Amino acid sequence: MTKALAHRWLSVHGLSKTYGDTPVFAGLDLNLARGQTLAIIGPSGCGKTTLLRILAGLARADSGCVQIDDKDVTEATPQARGAVYLYQEPLLFPHLDVFENIAFGLRLRALPRARINTEVETMLVALELTQLARRRPESLSGGQRQRVAFGRALAIKPALLLLDEPFSNLDPQTRANMQQLCKRLTRQHHSSVVFVTHDLKEALIMGDGFGRLSQGRYHAYQDRAAFCADAASGVQAELAFWRDGAAGRPPRES
Ligand code: ADP
Ligand code: MG
Repeated sequence: MTKALAHRWLSVHGLSKTYGDTPVFAGLDLNLARGQTLAIIGPSGCGKTTLLRILAGLARADSGCVQIDDKDVTEATPQARGAVYLYQEPLLFPHLDVFENIAFGLRLRALPRARINTEVETMLVALELTQLARRRPESLSGGQRQRVAFGRALAIKPALLLLDEPFSNLDPQTRANMQQLCKRLTRQHHSSVVFVTHDLKEALIMGDGFGRLSQGRYHAYQDRAAFCADAASGVQAELAFWRDGAAGRPPRES
């Protein structure tokens, strides 16, 4: 990879998607540097899931192309593009215990048994799941299940991780822990991440870069300061809410 390409390891051009007569987005361009996390915010129904599923290779756009490392992967399977899509509902195999759920992708790749054991045990430690290794998903809490799903996704060290509001069903403390864990593990693995959320604070915590999807248009911000300064991102309104609320003043009309 040349240096000039480094800032657009993942590169999307002119992506358009319509369901029936309803356009979701059109002419969408997006870039993501290797090892970076792009946080995308947008209201419910604006097409965030549709976009992530197209980036993952789980759905097809009507037009446009997706490139990774300067190769066209528009038609490639998720496996071929090294992509994993993770949703807020952790989809675990009910008949497998925690250890085997995390080992699943490694077994598919037919890695040696000893290597699989080491990798899964390391992941269990990182996720603080060692004590639960032999439990089945049905006996776990939502937060524990989400950690297992995360472990299974990260165990195969995906190049591209597509996280679709992954923590929105978790309580605030578990959510905060997962955000830190997610940052640590994706950095360790040099994964490139597109993180979709409608939570501004989460976007600011997770993102190296920022984008907003709204009414069929994608807006990429230059940097964190531009994201915070844009009235449409909602960051200023959120800050004003907390400032005025903390001072006992009524929130200002916007
Ligand atoms: P978000 O994740 O931002 O909430 P989605 O990508 O799920 O948005 O949906 C974007 C729009 O596309 C919505 O209006 C939704 O109703 C519509 N949509 C999503 N999936 C389908 C589908 N399989 N068939 C028809 N319409 C869909
Ligand atoms: Mg969605």
